[in-house]
Amino acid sequence: MTAQSEREPVTRLIQTARGNPVDDPFRVTGVMMQYYHVCKRELWFASRNLEIDRENPTVVRGTQVDDTAYGDKRRNLHLGMISLDLLEDGRVVEVKPSSALTEPAEMQLSYYLWYLDRVAGIEKDGVLAHPRERRREPVELTDERAQAVEDAICGIHEIVTSESPPAAEEKPFCDSCAYHDFCWC
Ligand code: SF4
Repeated sequence: MTAQSEREPVTRLIQTARGNPVDDPFRVTGVMMQYYHVCKRELWFASRNLEIDRENPTVVRGTQVDDTAYGDKRRNLHLGMISLDLLEDGRVVEVKPSSALTEPAEMQLSYYLWYLDRVAGIEKDGVLAHPRERRREPVELTDERAQAVEDAICGIHEIVTSESPPAAEEKPFCDSCAYHDFCWC
């Protein structure tokens, strides 16, 4: 496989997001980027629209956090495949729910910054909020981060186009995962 074809999912995603004609559109949401870094097997199940009537895993597991204690006014922005929150100063904010989930939150935020830059030509900085510690960490779209996002896009494409899910690997939050019974029962 050539380097160009290895990056083909990235090109296809950008063309899809810009509304250009694409034979096989490819979309990646922020949640998919998060799942890719939380559990690739979960990403595969979610990509098949497997809905399980169980408590919302993002709430149980803490990937969704109410940080309204910050008292910020935020604006929600929907742009094609992504939906993000902007602070009043224009920075994109993502919440770090727990110390175990730093990388997923950072990569989700990096994906938003990458998407804004590559798809809409908008350069933004980001901020990772740590509500439990009342702390914030600036995040910029460096070349290294952009590369990591593009690697992840290619990885996501590989997972979601696979005929079977990756093998289960036990994680601290498996008990609260919607797909627990598929993996461990
Ligand atoms: S139960 Fe664990 S291994 Fe299975 S999908 Fe959920 S997080 Fe992944």
